[in-house]
Amino acid sequence: MSKLDRRSFLAASAASSSLFWPLACSRASQQKLTAGRPVVISSGNGIPAVTRAMEGLNRGEDPADAVVEGVTLVEDDPNDMSVGYGGLPNEGGVVQLDASVMHGPTHKAGAVAAIENIRNPARVALKVLRHTDHVMIVGDGARRFAKAMGFKEENLLTDKAREVWLKWKRNLNPNDDWLDEDQSVDHDARQAMAESLGIAYSHGTIHCGAVDANGDVAACTTTSGLSYKIPGRVGDSPIIGAGMFVDNEVGAAGATGRGESVIQSCGAFQIVQHMAAGDEPTAACLKVLRWIADHTKRRMLLNQKGEPNFGVTLYAVRRDGLYGSASMHSGAHFTVHDGTEARSEDCAFLYEREPQDVES
Ligand code: ASP
Repeated sequence: MSKLDRRSFLAASAASSSLFWPLACSRASQQKLTAGRPVVISSGNGIPAVTRAMEGLNRGEDPADAVVEGVTLVEDDPNDMSVGYGGLPNEGGVVQLDASVMHGPTHKAGAVAAIENIRNPARVALKVLRHTDHVMIVGDGARRFAKAMGFKEENLLTDKAREVWLKWKRNLNPNDDWLDEDQSVDHDARQAMAESLGIAYSHGTIHCGAVDANGDVAACTTTSGLSYKIPGRVGDSPIIGAGMFVDNEVGAAGATGRGESVIQSCGAFQIVQHMAAGDEPTAACLKVLRWIADHTKRRMLLNQKGEPNFGVTLYAVRRDGLYGSASMHSGAHFTVHDGTEARSEDCAFLYEREPQDVES
């Protein structure tokens, strides 16, 4: 067992030795945060989101509103090319967005997928949650639903994102997302090519989870998804239990990074289940990363050491306020607001990053 493997293994096994939830709770509150204090956790790009969400919680806003209004700031930012307005488009040059939100007290979720021309999909997902008996609305139906709810249509492709997409298109090569019979996507080669040409080639997303002073939980994940994806491709972000999940008795979890791997592992659902069984948030995230690594079989997704070559970062907050995050590779950060300040913290990790590994 390598040093890092051993470290993650020890972290996970120490936490899973807390078989009973009350025991885990009391250990948690001694270690870090006091129960009853609001906490907001988000991905590395989430400083504005955790700041806005905490302001909302402090003035008694519902946690679902708080997280959605938090991520809306990032959706509106044209310089964040991973979400909302200014997000990188699909292979046809069209920005298609995915988002989901879940409200712990009512155990109700709302989601939209592959929605076009609407810059704030998280707010639309919240309308699905509040105004329909459905959970997910996709494609043109989602756009029409948003219009009926008063959202305005606009072109989301900024000049900056369009130029980046055109550059990618001019350099199309065999390593695109289409699989020929005996050709596979070589992620390492594709990333190296993109870097050598200065092409932004990315996954990118914002997740935000919150617990308020009453211990009520909500979470939200929003993204423009994998850049240059096949039109209509839906990632993990809008899938309840994959990119985001909440159980008000336990806490919230979410994911960023390679959505296909998170969908195939029911990532956020698994994290919450591990926390319900007594694992602390960081240990729960590491267990799910280990599960993803163990179930990654295809060569195109493995580096020379046989480890996943793609990025996934997982986030969790428990209803008593204990939080944590872990990433497939070293070097990732998440953001948190514990009521005193918004700050960036290092994610735990499963593997030391190899030069060819993709960031999440
Ligand atoms: N998880 C998102 C997706 O696969 C993208 C990302 O977070 O990088 O659509």
